[in-house]
Amino acid sequence: MRKLSFLIALLVLFSICISAEEAKITYRRTDNGDMKIALTFDDGPHPYYTAEILEILKEYNVKATFFFVGQNIENYPDAAEQVYLAGHEIGNHTYTHHRVRAMERGELVRELERCDDEIYRLYEYRTRLFRPPEGAFDDDVESIARNMDYSIILWSVDTRDWEGNTPIKIYQNVIDHVRSGDIILMHDYIGRNSPTPDALRMIIPKLIEMGYSFVSVSELISGG
Ligand SMILES: [Zn+2]
Repeated sequence: MRKLSFLIALLVLFSICISAEEAKITYRRTDNGDMKIALTFDDGPHPYYTAEILEILKEYNVKATFFFVGQNIENYPDAAEQVYLAGHEIGNHTYTHHRVRAMERGELVRELERCDDEIYRLYEYRTRLFRPPEGAFDDDVESIARNMDYSIILWSVDTRDWEGNTPIKIYQNVIDHVRSGDIILMHDYIGRNSPTPDALRMIIPKLIEMGYSFVSVSELISGG
């Protein structure tokens, strides 16, 4: 009898471990220790900043991950196509970029599906990466993402490039805070006078000099 209850206790512990494992769908960074990091760009594609960023990434042979807004893919399909052709990873950043926490379940599902459809129409590829606008989410959002087989991708370094910071300030922020396994948040869509391309021209060579290498978000979170 005692043996049986011990076995039951073991089984319960095992199932708790399994569900804890399953629970992991939200990532801010990974603790990889091998100097791999992921650059991410949100809100695009943009009619000209996306192309400028692609040029810089190409110059240094860096692969990044772009979290597209479905509407912007519709508006700027050529820019979106260039990102894919250059071999970067694409993630879902919703169709309209509205706050998802306030949405009804059906509305969020449609937001994700519509962006997913835009990505599929261009690439015949379905991303499993979802970044909620502003990184704002709750248990309901997480449960929908889980049901739809998405991982929620946040970040561990926010460059705050959208805030009107100068390129040097953005550069300094990244260099001061970067650690192995980080996911770095930048934007390829900023209304006008984006500081991001100029910041990127300083950030990438410095990070390479510091020994970092760049991988897609999927590679980072799978430990590849
Ligand atoms: Zn965004």
